[in-house]
Order: sequence, then C-alpha cells, then structure tokens
Amino acid sequence: MSRLYALFRQLNILFKAFFHLLYPDLCIHCKRELTSKHPYLCYSCTMRLKLIKWQKQAAYNIVYQSLNPNLVIYICALYKFEESEPIQTLLHELKYRFNRGLGLHYGKELGAQYSSEKRNHPIEILVPVPVHARKKFDRGYNQSELLAKGISTTTGIPVSTKVLKKIKNTKTQTQLNKTERLLNTIGSFSVSEEIMNYKTIAIVDDVVTTGATINAICQALMQKNNNLQITIFSLALAQQE
Ligand SMILES: [Zn+2]
Repeated sequence: MSRLYALFRQLNILFKAFFHLLYPDLCIHCKRELTSKHPYLCYSCTMRLKLIKWQKQAAYNIVYQSLNPNLVIYICALYKFEESEPIQTLLHELKYRFNRGLGLHYGKELGAQYSSEKRNHPIEILVPVPVHARKKFDRGYNQSELLAKGISTTTGIPVSTKVLKKIKNTKTQTQLNKTERLLNTIGSFSVSEEIMNYKTIAIVDDVVTTGATINAICQALMQKNNNLQITIFSLALAQQE
C-alpha cells in the first residue's frame, strides 16, 4: 500500500512539473513566470507593494465623521493603495476573479501582522464587510469573507457572518466622490442582537478608500452597542488627506 502511495506521489510530482512546463504560473500583474517562493505576484511586483504598519492616526482620520471617533482603536492594513500598481491588480483579482487561494493567503498575512503587533489588544470576533445577498449570489462569494477566513487561520479568532448584513443593494462606489459614497452607504447595513455579547470586534474589508463604508458600519454597530471597541483589518488603505 505504501509502495503504491509512493508511486502515486512520484507520478503526481511528475505530472505537476509537466503541467507547469506547459502552463507556468504567471504573475497576476506583469504576467512574468512565478517562482514557488512568491505566489500570485513576482518578486519585482511584490517589491512594489508598499507596506503599512499599525496606523492609529489613519484610523482616526477614517472615522472622523462618525459620532464617536474613539470607537475604532486600531487599523491593521497591509499595503498602501495606489492606482495602476500591483496592489490594484491584487484587489481586482480578489474581488472579481474568485481567487480563493489569494484571499486566504493575504488574510493569513494580515493575521500574522496583527499577531506580531497586537499590543495586548484582544479581538472576540471577525466581522467581514458584507455584500448584499443578490450581489453575493451573482459573484458567488464575498472577498472580505475570504480575507477573514485567512486571518482566522493565523489568529484563531472566529469569523461571524451573522452580526452584520447588507440590506440595501447599493450601486458600485468606484465612480463616486466622497459625499456621494457617504449618501450611498447610509442605512445600508443591519446589525443583529448578537452584537450585545461582544466588547471588541474587528471589521474586515478588502480596501478602505474614503472610509464611507466603514463609517456607515460603525454607526450601525454603535446604535446597537455603544460600548463596542473596533479594529479594522484591511488588505489596502488609501492615503488619507
Ligand atoms: Zn510581476
């Protein structure tokens, strides 16, 4: 049996090597061939990702319009968002191409960053930014849920998709300015009574740009539980003015 298994394993390795010769894994941004050390992005594209560390001030800037700016205690983001750069390709791949492995991989990276810098700051549950049920059905998945699952793998913090729901199927925000985004998101989330059981939660998003979505979520959460402390996990963060 073990001989048969060893033979199967050898054949599997050979098949994979042959398949790789025919269809090598390519960098999602520049399409150059990848090495096993750098999945999804090649070495030079990975070097173009700009790392962000814990940014308390950025967190405050993002939620400055909310009723209680002390609600958000930390933001844990991995990369600075820049147009036409590898980070934009990475976010596009995550959002529209159902690259499950990529979502989990960068979620784990976020989790590792949190674990290395958490500074006695516990989190009870991870709450992915929800998409409307119809959008989730059309797209087949929610990219923030994939990231949350990756974070959970590294940190052991459970994911809850029941606490927060998207009740308004808002139009896509890409072409909207800051004020339009705020108006677009107001009243579009509902929060379950389960939130009363928690003191510290984390919202997980793929990219935070104007902060309109995060603000709308914070306000909805605060209406149900005024003592909540929130951390924001985001793969990318746009520079705040
Ligand atoms: Zn590349």
